[in-house]
Amino acid sequence: MQAIEFAQDGTASAREVPRPTAGPGEAVVRVTSAGVCGSDISALHGTHPFRKPPLISGHEVGGIVDDIDPESADQLPVGTRVVIDPQWPCQTCGLCTRGDYHLCTRKAMLGVPTWDGGLADFVKVPVFTLVPAPAELDTSLLSFAEPVAVAVHAVRRAGQLTGARTALVLGGGTIGTLITAVLSTQAPQLEITVAEPRDHLHGLLDLAGAHSTVASSEDLPGNAFDLVFLAAGVPSLLETAATSAATGGTVVQVAVFSGSHPVPVGDLQIREITMVGTATYTKDDIASALDVILAKPELVERMVTFTEDWTDAAARITAIAADGPGEVMKLMVRRGAE
Ligand SMILES: [Zn+2]
Ligand SMILES: [Zn+2]
Repeated sequence: MQAIEFAQDGTASAREVPRPTAGPGEAVVRVTSAGVCGSDISALHGTHPFRKPPLISGHEVGGIVDDIDPESADQLPVGTRVVIDPQWPCQTCGLCTRGDYHLCTRKAMLGVPTWDGGLADFVKVPVFTLVPAPAELDTSLLSFAEPVAVAVHAVRRAGQLTGARTALVLGGGTIGTLITAVLSTQAPQLEITVAEPRDHLHGLLDLAGAHSTVASSEDLPGNAFDLVFLAAGVPSLLETAATSAATGGTVVQVAVFSGSHPVPVGDLQIREITMVGTATYTKDDIASALDVILAKPELVERMVTFTEDWTDAAARITAIAADGPGEVMKLMVRRGAE
């Protein structure tokens, strides 16, 4: 079978590698959909903390069960469409046993030197990582559930949506766009505002479900939004998030920051604003993400750039690592039925 191997010299190339077989507790998935994300690119740069080349990368993966431990074949027969949860938690620590396995400090991630990733014809995973997908969802879109699940989890961290009337998303990049899509799918009563300085992204945000888009976060009203999502790693937006949140509202911090930055804690206290963090997702979030993908077909089509074969995908990944993504928001490899 073919797989994309990341080399230490910063290039990716399609290689012939042995096809895996499923042992006890394992499944082999024939990959029909594999996404490339920023952490794959930093892996190729050699700057990712644990995705160190040489490796087969790829943690945004969906496909069809091809081979499975006979013990599990009743629930997930060969031919089942699945999305892979790329997290392999310890399953014994306090976080794992209370259901917060996505926060397990000992979890492994798919696409590391010790666990070959999904930029390949076939990938071997523990059976517990498989999330069944509905038959009406095109198999080429399955891997998109992974980035959408990040947004689903961020929205879940905001708590009950039913009482909220207004939401603000600070930053309309990929994650901000997906949070907008999740909010508009799960809470249609919400009036959603997105602050995004790049005008050319505003059309996409409308498609995601934004009711208004503003170019400058300085134009936002204060004390106005029941829910605020901080989806751009700009330190000054921490203050904007707190001041634009309505009294009694919630700020969800989803952007990646390094180091510490000031937060207006006085405002949090006196106006009872809840500030929460969010990291990755669980299998439940992946399942909900599939519904969002089904609800927003035009958005998904606009966000995804497809390629069909591993050689072309490898060349594109190498080019993105060298020159940046250009117009490509989400590169995905789609493979046909055979
Ligand atoms: Zn990713
Ligand atoms: Zn654990």
